Amino acid sequence: MELCHSGKLAERIEAAKALLQNCQVCPHHCGINRLAGEMGKCRTGRLAVVSSYGPHFGEEAPLVGKHGSGTIFFTNCNLKCLFCQNYSISQLGDGAEASKEELAKMMLALQTRGCHNINLVSPTHVVPQILEALEIAINLGLKLPLVYNSGGYDSVKTLEILDGILDIYMPDMKYSDEKTAEELSGINDYPSINRAALREMHRQVGDLQINEDGIAARGILIRHLVLPHGLAGTKETMEFVAEEISQNSYVNVMAQYHPCYKAFQIPQLSRPLLKQEFLEAIEMAKGAGLNRLDKLHPAAVRAI
Ligand code: SF4
Repeated sequence: MELCHSGKLAERIEAAKALLQNCQVCPHHCGINRLAGEMGKCRTGRLAVVSSYGPHFGEEAPLVGKHGSGTIFFTNCNLKCLFCQNYSISQLGDGAEASKEELAKMMLALQTRGCHNINLVSPTHVVPQILEALEIAINLGLKLPLVYNSGGYDSVKTLEILDGILDIYMPDMKYSDEKTAEELSGINDYPSINRAALREMHRQVGDLQINEDGIAARGILIRHLVLPHGLAGTKETMEFVAEEISQNSYVNVMAQYHPCYKAFQIPQLSRPLLKQEFLEAIEMAKGAGLNRLDKLHPAAVRAI
């Protein structure tokens, strides 16, 4: 809010919009002109596309509180994970274009409904559009913390533009092995890009801070979806987090993998996660020295 009122948010918006001209918003560096409506790997042009928005009660407890996390689901994604659990939105393009004014109205509507935060789901490819909307929303009274809920394939340069604007970073850490990242998401540099992004996010906001009401106020919350047959590289990821981010990191080791979308193309992904695999993943996290693990969601417990 201070950045907005001092005029510095406007400078950040211009810096972010400049990235759209020869698109460098994410690490794919497509180099096309999205200001002219061209589309690169994320299949998103000048305007953000939104699938839905509303209070969400399935997120981590510190985001949900009593009144829900105010999610805005952005359509399309800069990743192409064969097993995407949200594939109709991320890969099949469900959604409609939203202007910056419409996006601002969504943020304000979520605040009016009592949500504890604005949870930007898959924001990586629409950072400039989010900032444009944010300026309007703040001038109309938006006060909620902002959550950047990404797949973790984020550019450090773009994240630097967000310094002081985002309150909570919630990145995925999907893989620790390049070959697996290439096979399952079509990008072999995911581990190095992801780790650099995590360092920058933690530099900006630090460990997750939870207020006296149990609500997340600021910091980083890391998500790691455990995949069958150890494909997610859980041990290496947990060791990286403990050694290079912080041993006090809040980590959600997620059990809800189930095969969908194109997962059946990969024999190892063609079955749900086994309970034993999940328990081993938890032990790997603890063995690395991480003890601030998210409580398992009841739906995930039932699933395994
Ligand atoms: S945001 Fe989209 S167009 Fe821009 S570099 Fe990334 S994938 Fe390419």
